[in-house]
Amino acid sequence: MIAGVVSNVVRGQIMSAPQADPVHVPRPSSWWSALRDAAIDFVYPPTCPFCQAELPADMREVSGGFCLTCWVALTTPTGSVCRRCGGTVGPYLDVESGCIFCQDEAYVFDRVYRLGLYDGVLGTACLWGKHRRGDPLLAALVKLLCQSERGTLADEKIDVVVPIPQHWLQRLYRSHNAPDTLATVFASRLRTRLGTHTLQKTRFTPRQGRLGPQARRINMKNAFRVAKPASVAGATVLLVDDVMTTGATVNEAAKVIRQAGAKRVVVAVLARGLGIHR
Ligand SMILES: [Zn+2]
Ligand SMILES: [Zn+2]
Repeated sequence: MIAGVVSNVVRGQIMSAPQADPVHVPRPSSWWSALRDAAIDFVYPPTCPFCQAELPADMREVSGGFCLTCWVALTTPTGSVCRRCGGTVGPYLDVESGCIFCQDEAYVFDRVYRLGLYDGVLGTACLWGKHRRGDPLLAALVKLLCQSERGTLADEKIDVVVPIPQHWLQRLYRSHNAPDTLATVFASRLRTRLGTHTLQKTRFTPRQGRLGPQARRINMKNAFRVAKPASVAGATVLLVDDVMTTGATVNEAAKVIRQAGAKRVVVAVLARGLGIHR
């Protein structure tokens, strides 16, 4: 497990180096990089960030770094996806203007991007991602989401990526915040600005997972403020959280971002919980 995580972290640093040189005779730096990669592969064979299975060489790029089994579990569509809330409904239902899960919701964000439903492999991966050692897994899931939404997410022309923040009291006993990691990777992949301190939590709130839908809305009411309104004024904002269930958290955050003058707010989460999974 530890060797796999170390391998993926080391590999992540090396993969950011320039890719193969088009010149026929490789420069010394190219063959040195290839030799170094081969040595790292030998000591730390690349593994799936979820199940730690060793990856065949031909799987490393096409599956976002996951093994075939996990990749199929994470990417197989299960129906039509509602753009307004990220919910999944039957394959022949019209979701142009919303779906059964969001028809009564007054969402102020414009769209939701998500990898899948909060269930199975993705549900477990979201739980693991809440721990510090889950960062390589979170990064791989963002890569997979960006690959699956390659055209549409790029077309959003995101100006700033903003994570859902923790309250300072929560930071005292929970140093790791999954949305911070996710937002950092999104900003890097979309080559745009990261607004880690743009949004602030104004008060301590109990965990949403233990509350019913109505209690979740009350819990998050007026829980956020925009610390730097100038950074979102006139901007298209990508608001990032790990899971969206009722949407109460991202909706309250989107409200204050809108009030600060944002042009458009789109939400990106790893998973959409439909209220029946937790
Ligand atoms: Zn796997
Ligand atoms: Zn919907």
